[in-house]
Amino acid sequence: MIDPVEVAARLEQMQATLGGRAAEITVVAVTKAFEFDAIAAAETAGIDVVGESYAQECIAKLEGRTIGPAVHFIGRLQRNKVRRLAALVDVWQSVDRPELVDEIAKRAPGASVMIQVDISNEPQKGGCPPADLSRLLDRARESGLVVAGLMGIGPIGEPELARPGFARLRRLVDDHGLESCSMGMSADLSVAVEEGTTMVRVGTTLFGPRPPRG
Ligand SMILES: *Cc1c(COP(=O)(O)O)cnc(C)c1O
Repeated sequence: MIDPVEVAARLEQMQATLGGRAAEITVVAVTKAFEFDAIAAAETAGIDVVGESYAQECIAKLEGRTIGPAVHFIGRLQRNKVRRLAALVDVWQSVDRPELVDEIAKRAPGASVMIQVDISNEPQKGGCPPADLSRLLDRARESGLVVAGLMGIGPIGEPELARPGFARLRRLVDDHGLESCSMGMSADLSVAVEEGTTMVRVGTTLFGPRPPRG
């Protein structure tokens, strides 16, 4: 069981480490691999956004439910999962290719999306190459989607390794006049804050170690 009181305490502790900009930074509580009680605990702790990564799991947890927090989909996404997710997802953070833009525009017209950019040269994590970003942004806007910002995932390893990619993502957000810059997870949170994140995605910091996926 996830204890909401503990989650609230961890959130407060985490916000202290965000420093002076804490009030401007959106916290996405990453509830992937946890049971529904993590979502309930996040809501009780006053968190407005939860993040889910696995389509099947997200559907199983959320279909038929109404929850308080907004749902951001942050994981690798197959086009054939979009239709069933459309009723559950408020913001699609991992949009990284034209086929996904087209499918989301079809199944969730006018939806809010973020373009995921590959900032650490780890293609297995998804993300469009920075060189393709402008074209993908145009396509998303032309198809009626609302582009809220960009998302990036730091590389595995020392948190410092994430800095150049985070700096690059922040510049891209500014160059394209976007609002949100989604970067920073439990391990590289401080680096993301220093590089100007507006949205952090944290799981283990709030909920403890993730259970193995069954
Ligand atoms: C799992 C995940 C997170 C959260 O990771 P933690 O290390 O638990 O904070 C953030 N972003 C993405 C894309 C993830 O898949």
